[in-house]
Amino acid sequence: MQKLVRGIHSFQSGYFATHRQLFEQLSTAGQQPETLFVTCSDSRVDPNLITAAPPGELFVVRNAGNIIPHPDLPGGTAASIEYAVEVLGVEDVIVCGHTQCGAIEAILHPERAAGLPFLARWLAQAGNVKRIVDERYADLAPEARITAAVEENVLAQLENLREFPFVARRLEAGKLRLSGWVFKLSTGEVFDYDPVRGEFVLLAGSEGA
Ligand SMILES: [Zn+2]
Repeated sequence: MQKLVRGIHSFQSGYFATHRQLFEQLSTAGQQPETLFVTCSDSRVDPNLITAAPPGELFVVRNAGNIIPHPDLPGGTAASIEYAVEVLGVEDVIVCGHTQCGAIEAILHPERAAGLPFLARWLAQAGNVKRIVDERYADLAPEARITAAVEENVLAQLENLREFPFVARRLEAGKLRLSGWVFKLSTGEVFDYDPVRGEFVLLAGSEGA
């Protein structure tokens, strides 16, 4: 933890000192983020870093596997989504999965979550992803199957999002856009789901290796 304390000092004398006005404005005017960013808790995925978004721009919800539970189930994820959409009035919702996702691997191999009842119950909500992958991607090599599952999971969670009445209302009114992204850890690239092409395509401006 000492590393983090040193980091705080470095933040205060560096980034904060050069962005003091931004923080003052955020503290007096409140937050007005334009985007709700739903992603995995994985330590290797950093929403603000990969989008170069300063404080105040992204309202972030994170959990294991970037899962959006069914609207009938109360919980922190649903509460945060409701607040972002209904109160903050975000214009965009991005659900962002990532390669090498441990949660997705556990969805494909539920035995890996044995002995972890909370995780197992949480991931069971994405059980249809396993079914889709078993049906459509059985021939793929293990690594490619996981990436396919990461993508299918993003699409499944976007569907869950549409089930929330307040999301459906805003979509119908043209006041909300939904996007599905996948962050590729090994290259830093971000892929965006293109519903016309029916596939994830490299985002323009994305810096790849
Ligand atoms: Zn993950």
